[in-house]
Amino acid sequence: MGKYDSYKKQVLECITGLVRDGFVQGTGGNVSMLAEGEDVIIVTPSQREYDGMTVDEICVVDFDLKPVEDNGLKPSMETGMHLSVYRNRKDAGAVVHTHQIFASIFSVINTPIPALFDEVTNSIGAFVDVVPYGLSGSPQLLENVTSKLGNGANCYLLQNHGAIALGASLAQARRNAELLEKAAEVYYYALSTGREVTLLPQNIQDLLVKILSGKQEAERKRREEMKKK
Ligand code: 13P
Ligand code: ZN
Repeated sequence: MGKYDSYKKQVLECITGLVRDGFVQGTGGNVSMLAEGEDVIIVTPSQREYDGMTVDEICVVDFDLKPVEDNGLKPSMETGMHLSVYRNRKDAGAVVHTHQIFASIFSVINTPIPALFDEVTNSIGAFVDVVPYGLSGSPQLLENVTSKLGNGANCYLLQNHGAIALGASLAQARRNAELLEKAAEVYYYALSTGREVTLLPQNIQDLLVKILSGKQEAERKRREEMKKK
């Protein structure tokens, strides 16, 4: 068994689950996770059908995009964007990029999603901002995403494209994409009633964001300690 095989299996399971659940279509979307204690990520390949994909097709690259294991395939065109998350958000252990439907609606009307439910805010933050449009895989998209990462949220909408979710683990990043989709779907239907949409009270939003930041800080420290070993 290869050094990165268990990571590759997790990445493959995640992307095929996202296809099954309608979060990505065809070859769209991509997933990565960090190898614990290393500047190495395990990432889905570019423009390959996920249906029927095998673990050998999952790529392993370092932070300079150099293959650590060469399987002859190109890593996702969004690998630079994933790497920017790991560079700028030391609490992140995984990144999930989707073309999920309800979040995409808000990406095309260029409208952020506010704090609607405590279990969502608790996990993704109080405000899901829209990253300005950049062509898929372009330096512009990478730059636009990077400029938003400092807000501490765990989800972002990509204008006229989709969404990204991050988390301490792959399971958490995936869960955050699901929570984003729940919030987006409910917000869409709530707005369509024409009635006022109530948000979480500000003091509750502040409290939940404080708890989330505490968890992110603990994860940052844990990762820092592991690197020292
Ligand atoms: P890749 O197939 O290169 O991962 O690209 C899919 C995508 O969603 C681009 O934004
Ligand atoms: Zn995409």
